[in-house]
Amino acid sequence: MDKRVRVRFAPSPTGFVHIGSLRTALYNYLFAKKMQGDYILRIEDTDQTRFVKGAIENMLEIFDWAHIHNDEGVIMRDGFVAQHGPAGPYIQSERLDIYRQYIDQLLEKDCAYYCFCSRDRLSLVKEQQMAKGETPRYDGHCRAISLSEARQRAASGEAHVIRLKFPENLDISFDDIVKGRVTVNTSDLDDQVLMKTDGFPTYHFAVVIDDHLMAISHVIRGEEWVTSTPKHVFLYQAFGWEAPQFVHLPNILNRERKKLSKRQDDVAASDFRAKGYLPQGLINFLALVGWSPDSEQELFTMEELIEHFSLERISKSGGIFDVDKLNFINSHYIKTEDIDVLTELAIPQLIEAGYITSEEIHDPQKMDWIKGVVTLLRDRLSHMSQIKQEAGIFFKATYELNDEEAIAAMRAPQTGILLDAFEKRARAVDVINDDFGKTTFKEIQAETGFKGKDLYMPIRTALIGEVHGPDMGLTLKVLGKENVLARIAYARTLL
Ligand code: GLU
Repeated sequence: MDKRVRVRFAPSPTGFVHIGSLRTALYNYLFAKKMQGDYILRIEDTDQTRFVKGAIENMLEIFDWAHIHNDEGVIMRDGFVAQHGPAGPYIQSERLDIYRQYIDQLLEKDCAYYCFCSRDRLSLVKEQQMAKGETPRYDGHCRAISLSEARQRAASGEAHVIRLKFPENLDISFDDIVKGRVTVNTSDLDDQVLMKTDGFPTYHFAVVIDDHLMAISHVIRGEEWVTSTPKHVFLYQAFGWEAPQFVHLPNILNRERKKLSKRQDDVAASDFRAKGYLPQGLINFLALVGWSPDSEQELFTMEELIEHFSLERISKSGGIFDVDKLNFINSHYIKTEDIDVLTELAIPQLIEAGYITSEEIHDPQKMDWIKGVVTLLRDRLSHMSQIKQEAGIFFKATYELNDEEAIAAMRAPQTGILLDAFEKRARAVDVINDDFGKTTFKEIQAETGFKGKDLYMPIRTALIGEVHGPDMGLTLKVLGKENVLARIAYARTLL
């Protein structure tokens, strides 16, 4: 019987979830669910210098938002970071005793050795190697110290690390599901530090121990780790353990085909959340950056992604982060999302734009009205922060005429006549209802003889400052009588 599928996402808690990490987590999750296996979230915090307070909480919040829930590992429970599952602890800094036990096995097997070289000596060796044009690497100075001598020196308090002892000139190979066969010779590998002076393991050591003890069947991670994998494979061999299957995901590239960079691109998952992308939209899009379904389908719910996902269809080359495609996908979800959810998302944007105050959100009438505005505009949005531009006209009576068409429409000779006719009818009703727009335009056409563009464009421009916009009848209804009259008055100042 095939081994149970168990995968893990193993971030370092830096406090920020890169969009690439969110995709890695997603692919792990999709594969686990598809195979009815387990998705584990493990925290790799062995680099204590990178410790960031609140980082785990922030990360878990993003995964929760994205609906990527783990079966084992680190979770939030009653507002605190907690752990669940039988293979814990799932936070590496809580597993130090385990690593110590396994490093002893490696030392006994002569697959690792104590190294007492000082920082100064290591920098000197590095300088000398660089001066000779060689790739800097550890020169093996401490390799020959016997284990008993090394243990005595360590016991007497001498600072040390423990390094991996690679045999000379050994080819290490593995088959990567995406990259194919990868072979590296140990003459190109450094004697990797496994245990640091502070008694913490390095990533390379801890990852192997944990993936083995947690019975991980597939390691799905970013391609930046592919060059480290031979070290891991050697460790599996040294322990006599079966290595998991490796799956290295292609980088995410921007439209210039360069790796996404913090300076040029939005890279934090939270940036997308703050812009008002919906989790369904971002997840659907990310799934397609580096994986393709076996059909033309582009819109997938999480359930559909689970059904269609396969490791075999992950692309070998970098996936392009095409913001237009993200916007296209997300606009689909905005069209179909529950209006209350959208209104919730619109509120911080509207507050930020200064259109409403945080007190007004407690006024049910105002909120109903805002819901109407969101309903009217949703079809025009790719992400909710765009509501700041789109909704302006509903919250203030003035606008600027930014494009030639709008200026021309406003200056058209018939605009004054049309506004007179329109204003007369707006004043005559108590409330502007669903039918007002339709009836009024018909009547004005009959009265003035203007029709089509000549009729609509000047009136629309007078009301919203643009020749194109959301449905006219609904716009009028949402604006309401008072606002409509205020905008007509403003438009007259521009004639
Ligand atoms: N802790 C590593 C990271 O931050 C995990 C790499 C792996 O998945 O093995 O990306």
